[in-house]
Amino acid sequence: MAKSVLNAEHFQNEEAAFAYVEARLWPNGAVCPHCGETGRVGRLAGKTTRAGLHKCYACRKPFTVRMGTIFESSHLPLHLWLQVVHLMCASKKGISTRQIQRMLNCSMKTAWFLGHRIRLAMDPGSADPVGGSGKIVEADDTVWVTSQKTRRKAGPKKPKATILSLVERGGAIRSIVLDHRGLRAALRENLHKESRLVTDSAQAFKNMLPAGQHEAVDHSKYEWARGDVHIQTLEGFFSVFKRGLIGVYQHVDKAHLPRYTAEFDFRFNHRAKLGIDDTQRRTPPSTA
Ligand SMILES: [Zn+2]
Repeated sequence: MAKSVLNAEHFQNEEAAFAYVEARLWPNGAVCPHCGETGRVGRLAGKTTRAGLHKCYACRKPFTVRMGTIFESSHLPLHLWLQVVHLMCASKKGISTRQIQRMLNCSMKTAWFLGHRIRLAMDPGSADPVGGSGKIVEADDTVWVTSQKTRRKAGPKKPKATILSLVERGGAIRSIVLDHRGLRAALRENLHKESRLVTDSAQAFKNMLPAGQHEAVDHSKYEWARGDVHIQTLEGFFSVFKRGLIGVYQHVDKAHLPRYTAEFDFRFNHRAKLGIDDTQRRTPPSTA
């Protein structure tokens, strides 16, 4: 009979969940997060001791593998955390706070907190510029507008935010929510100068790179692709991203938008086309 992925022991049992996370974060045995001790540490195995508790005999402090990770300072059992991590990594358009709340039978506040902690872990933070010598980088921007249905006043659509995305053809994507700096500054900051840039014919992309390094397709003339000059990779990404924002998340506060772009970037950067399946997506690459 078919067996659900969520039947795995580490999704069902607290001890197994700790063993699963410990095996990945401590491949060479427990490490004290307080002082870095590796040798003189022991697992506390009393009858009433909570799962995964260790003690460091160098600094005499207790610790678990949750310390210093996104699982820290949370009362939610670790095996439930792992379930949510899996659901978020495997749901192509995301999973809403309400859905997590109903599935886990927890409060909405807990569900919201879980979602955002996991998004934080999906965000690589600062990283090297996208592309490089001999690499093709597609760049395009998309505007996020308030839904017709939730707008209080009739009138023209007001953009809530503009998102610039850069993707290396066959490689990684990075999305940036634009602030007062604008598109050109964000592009300059995130694009490797030796890349070959392909965009649409928007004015904002002109003269960013020396002639010959930038090519554009003219959508106004119904030109979508000219040889390898196209931005279809990004059109595909934006399509999934917009469906996620409209269909799953529905109400995203602008202040939190960068975390949502990080979530969609993460799934795209660990996509099936790069040989990563749903289970591998939630496992740290160094231990996969
Ligand atoms: Zn210690």
